[in-house]
Amino acid sequence: MTTSFRTLDDASLCGQRVLLRLDLNVPMENGRVADTTRIDRALPTLGELIRKGAKTIILSHFGRPKGGPDAENSLKGLAGALSANLGIGVHFASDCIGPRAEEAVAKLNDGDVLLLENTRFHKGEENNDPAFIAELARLGDIYVNDAFSAAHRAHASTEGLAHKLPAYAGRSMQAELEALGKALENPQRPVAAIVGGAKVSTKLDLLANLSKKVDYLIIGGGMANTFLAAQGKSVGKSLYEKDALETARNVVAAAKAANCAIVLPVDGVAAKEFKAHAASRVVLVDAIADDEMILDAGPKSVAEVTALLGKLKTLVWNGPFGAFEMQPFDAATNAVARAAAALTTAGKLVTVAGGGDTVSALNQAGVGAQFTYISTAGGAFLEWLEGKPLPGVEALRIKA
Ligand code: AMP
Repeated sequence: MTTSFRTLDDASLCGQRVLLRLDLNVPMENGRVADTTRIDRALPTLGELIRKGAKTIILSHFGRPKGGPDAENSLKGLAGALSANLGIGVHFASDCIGPRAEEAVAKLNDGDVLLLENTRFHKGEENNDPAFIAELARLGDIYVNDAFSAAHRAHASTEGLAHKLPAYAGRSMQAELEALGKALENPQRPVAAIVGGAKVSTKLDLLANLSKKVDYLIIGGGMANTFLAAQGKSVGKSLYEKDALETARNVVAAAKAANCAIVLPVDGVAAKEFKAHAASRVVLVDAIADDEMILDAGPKSVAEVTALLGKLKTLVWNGPFGAFEMQPFDAATNAVARAAAALTTAGKLVTVAGGGDTVSALNQAGVGAQFTYISTAGGAFLEWLEGKPLPGVEALRIKA
């Protein structure tokens, strides 16, 4: 597949000093990595750089240090975790610029890996400061960015360096960009987006952007209640945003103007209490009692959505259909997720999903591995769904 980015296929790596930006901002518990997803995603690029004889110099941020070094936000402990995964010793330098970094780089042999200390220990990182960028650039011959999840920030190691050195997308960045391209930039049509979750107000930009790009906008979760209320329906005690009714009507009008069909639930699973295993009943959306709240989409809505999936070529998904953390209000999310996964496995549908809760909802449904691509990039994925240019990605783009 062609991309408008230089990838490792275009780089000569042997003997080169490669400044590799990773996102090693992993959750830690008692000094151990609690979730290795980000390390796992870095392994293809790291393995390739080692095999091809590059001198790999890893840059990453970690936590939110307050403008200087502190032990709590040191990346030192990550060198061991990387070594264990790579099967080779990973060196560590206690600064990411200056003499300590330069000496450590000078000692590298081809195929060696060096982890530099947290880039955010210097204010120049977040300020994208040219002097700091120049200090970093002295350490490498080329720059490889494999940190899509940090690409929504215009920082020195995510954006500035790409303008200073020959810049390439790493393998995870490449996979993410290719998946996202297939999902929204050049999708096979018809393409739909499922947007669920709690509130319209937090997903307004996302709804506006998606309605311009997709053929169907399928709305679920608490935010569907706001759309139903905007149609004049009574949603009882359901979570909905009184202040966003006009906004919801505007989204519907904009979608209509862009030839995008809005799909709302026709029934729900309603309960009187917001808790797991609360007594519930299936109810049409125009028959919600005053003391009830909709906590999930109902079976008719699920049947409509799954029937629609059968007609699609591409599906983008952010946000659950219901309060999926509490059984039985995970049923609609699980059913639609499984239908989408089956179509993906059968080669009939491209499925790209992401955003914090969505990743856990799809994993909970047991379909995480069957989707075409699941982005764990959080904020960067959401900004991409909102149609915002991501500085770290834009800086990698090949200019014609
Ligand atoms: P978001 O982070 O915006 O994707 O929202 C996800 C959250 O929305 C999850 O914690 C869900 O429990 C919650 N949610 C989804 N549907 C509903 C609903 N009908 N009522 C209340 N909360 C919901």
